Amino acid sequence: QAAAAHEQKLVVVSVSPQSRASLAAKCKLGLQETAQKLTKFLKSVHYVFDTTFSRNFSLLESQQEFLRRFQRQAHDKKALPMLASACPGWICYAEKTHGSFIIPHISTTKSPQQVMGSLVKGYFAEQQHLPPDRIYHVTVMPCYDKKLEASRPDFFNQEYQTRDVDCVITTGEVLKLLEQEGVALADVDPAPLDTMMGAAPGLGGHAGGGSGGYLEHIFRHAARELFGIHVGSIHYRQLRNKDFQEVTLERDGQVLLHFALAYGFRNIQNVVQKLKRGKCPYHYVEVMACPSGCLNGGGQIRLEGESSKEELQQVERLYRSLKAEVPEDNQAVRELYQHWLGGWGSERALSVLHTQYHALERANSALSIKW
Ligand code: SF4
Repeated sequence: QAAAAHEQKLVVVSVSPQSRASLAAKCKLGLQETAQKLTKFLKSVHYVFDTTFSRNFSLLESQQEFLRRFQRQAHDKKALPMLASACPGWICYAEKTHGSFIIPHISTTKSPQQVMGSLVKGYFAEQQHLPPDRIYHVTVMPCYDKKLEASRPDFFNQEYQTRDVDCVITTGEVLKLLEQEGVALADVDPAPLDTMMGAAPGLGGHAGGGSGGYLEHIFRHAARELFGIHVGSIHYRQLRNKDFQEVTLERDGQVLLHFALAYGFRNIQNVVQKLKRGKCPYHYVEVMACPSGCLNGGGQIRLEGESSKEELQQVERLYRSLKAEVPEDNQAVRELYQHWLGGWGSERALSVLHTQYHALERANSALSIKW
């Protein structure tokens, strides 16, 4: 049945940069080669995109959202801290365990996967002169929780009875596909990368670590826009462990911005408890469910003969080898904001690029949280 559906539909695959880095480490290839060979391997489908493109929108919207929240903190006690929203493992836990208390703190900005869903079933469908339900959209992601995210009712288009992301496969599942087909990625000929917009794409990345760099982008932007301070390199201060770190912006001994990253269940619990006691000092927290973040996601490939520390270091090295781009400088992103979304901060941008959360403070066995 799935095959029959594929025959009638335009099939689009969007690959996350974390998955690409994991495959590159496994196949001992560079990132660009991996992207080109994977594009060729997947070319029984019609288009292969990179979710780094949609992450630009997530980062820009998060930056704007933080400024709005900062400005209303005096009369809205739940405006800050703003908590990151890109990790569905964390979102499921927050909705299920801390529901209505925590939800107002969670950024409403969609994750890169779900922004990609909106771009593919919205902008790209329009370009192809197709209704959204004539596109079958697959993403390749570093974790199983992205499957849960894609299946949320918030990302289902009632009018066309279609999801923004129809199917999520993990990095490990892509490797299995390669193995089932008897294909070694290293032997596949490279193919040019696809782009949603005009010019040929190069592979780019974002500064600030393997979980998307939310903290760093929002920190720099807020420092510049709120205090006129241009931040050079960012200095993290480790707290209890390397998965709990903080960053401050100070002027004349006064703390202007106080951000943290909290990865893994224990550190998240720590932040939530601080919040519940009214003692959370942060303006923003980059929250991720996996220790060490998305490069270490549960759907990534485990490398034989390597310790988990060594394999993570390899994947991180590869991931960092990409030149970091600034989302504001991406011409294609600017054009889409202008011509498709109706400009920065437009109502259309808010409705297309943001979502909502739901308190589920009751037993919900359908959600599997693997911490
Ligand atoms: Fe998935 Fe882990 Fe990243 Fe969360 S931190 S999005 S669970 S890989």
